[in-house]
Amino acid sequence: MIVRTRNPDATHELAGPLTVAEVLDRLDVAPHTVLVIHDGELVTADHELPEDAEVEVRPVISGGAGTPRCVVCRGPAVIEEPRHRAAWCGAHFVDHVQRQIRKAIDHGHGLTPGERMFSYTDRMLVAVSGGKDSLALWDALLAMGYRVDGLYVGLGIGGYSTRSQEICTRFAEERRATLHVVDLAETYGYAIPNGANAAGRSTCGVCGLSKRYVFNRVAMEHGYDVVLTGHNLDDEAATLLGNLLRWNDALLARQGPVLRGGDGLQARKCKPLYRLSERETAAYCVVRGIEYVVEECPLVAGNSGHEHKAALDVIEAGSPGAKAQLLFGFLDRQARLSRGAEEGGAAALGSCARCGMPTTTDVCAFCRQRERIVAVLPQHEEAV
Ligand code: SF4
Ligand SMILES: [Zn+2]
Ligand SMILES: [Zn+2]
Repeated sequence: MIVRTRNPDATHELAGPLTVAEVLDRLDVAPHTVLVIHDGELVTADHELPEDAEVEVRPVISGGAGTPRCVVCRGPAVIEEPRHRAAWCGAHFVDHVQRQIRKAIDHGHGLTPGERMFSYTDRMLVAVSGGKDSLALWDALLAMGYRVDGLYVGLGIGGYSTRSQEICTRFAEERRATLHVVDLAETYGYAIPNGANAAGRSTCGVCGLSKRYVFNRVAMEHGYDVVLTGHNLDDEAATLLGNLLRWNDALLARQGPVLRGGDGLQARKCKPLYRLSERETAAYCVVRGIEYVVEECPLVAGNSGHEHKAALDVIEAGSPGAKAQLLFGFLDRQARLSRGAEEGGAAALGSCARCGMPTTTDVCAFCRQRERIVAVLPQHEEAV
């Protein structure tokens, strides 16, 4: 088959039949940087091209697929992003990431005119896991001059947790930043693996509730104004897809980069990375020399969010920008949904009878979960 690559133009003869993915692999072309056209039609990676096919591989990144150039300084690019139709050198990529964060802080979805996610006088707590997103966020906000400390929650997931904690500790020490550490087993009497077994719930369900609780409790006890998490565009799009698949109105109404706090019980929660893909946050860490845990949590298999992410990746590969379109399109319309939920009468927030943290029921979801867990973990003493 004849394959014409463009910009710079070249013709290649390959023995077929081959799939589009195989052709791109032979030519060493990254699939997300090009469109592949066969018989005047766009074809996707799994499309089979016959022996006599004539195919055009057309770059979609400004600066050309051969040697992408930085859109700002025209120097050699280190990363290209089809969604933005742009490529950057290291220094300008850092600018791009910090500009997206700035845009989220100053004009993010869900903010009223003139409102910001947070200000330079706020005291902020970023929840760090040792992964790329939360450390990129902490680094960027420190570089941008914000007052932000870290919080690491020890989940007791074997070597994964040990390595994550070491990385967070080193990160904080190198920057002379404050890192709070809360070990679930020491403080609350269970770790995630045995806690999930005892609760009879999904591991990630128990883990998610525990982390949200600890983030808020530490923020309240230490007087932080805002809790920040490293949720990125991929996370938020996957969560949205999950909420849509279940038509979970309550979660759809609440989903967004800003969750306002309330009544001195609940800190404001913000997600300043929601405009950046996980590829961008990972690249930011590499460019900035930030060490992060590359391995995934070994319990991730139970996380349905990952299936949704994989499904969205397939769509994104075929149409770059689809994830951003899905998420931002939803957030543009979301004010309407939230209004509907408010009119429907959101339940009032009170204090938990056990721990005093916010809840819409007598005893908060965390305390109910923890009571179930410690009831079946005999060797643990009451820790709270
Ligand atoms: S994958 Fe699940 S268990 Fe592991 S850290 Fe994430 S939420 Fe917790
Ligand atoms: Zn540049
Ligand atoms: Zn409680």
